[in-house]
Amino acid sequence: MPEMVYEAARRAAADLLRRHWDGHLPIRLSEISESLNASKYEADLGGTLSGMVSKTPGSGPRIALNSRHSSARRRFTWAHELGHVVERKQLADDPEYSFTDARGAKYDLHEFFADEFAGSLLIPADELRRLRNLGYTTGQLARTFGVSVDAIDKRIARLEVHPDELAHA
Ligand SMILES: [Zn+2]
Repeated sequence: MPEMVYEAARRAAADLLRRHWDGHLPIRLSEISESLNASKYEADLGGTLSGMVSKTPGSGPRIALNSRHSSARRRFTWAHELGHVVERKQLADDPEYSFTDARGAKYDLHEFFADEFAGSLLIPADELRRLRNLGYTTGQLARTFGVSVDAIDKRIARLEVHPDELAHA
């Protein structure tokens, strides 16, 4: 059976965590970002954009994050943009692309991949399960993983739809 989009996104995140995560929370994105040759900067992107990523031939991907947003939101956006980088690299090895992310923008499989990747990268299923079993509240989980409460809720919902079997594969 061909791999589903969410499976490909989770596998890509798990591969990066295996190579670049020291086991501490919150997960640091800088090393993972560097391993993908991506650079990141923050700028005032206005009231609607959360971030963007673009790549031109011969240079690494450049990720912009909205400096107006909280650090928790910027982290998720950063991971989401890395998801676009990973997907482009895996699927097409594109030398050139760009994605712009705004609230309420068109949602397609590229956006789904990037969100699933970001949730899997920042909130590993095993860790989430372990901390929930210890009785952590959603707010405590959000602080521990360095993401918003909304990101925790979405990750839990995604894992209810598709339980994570890859973690033990
Ligand atoms: Zn996106």
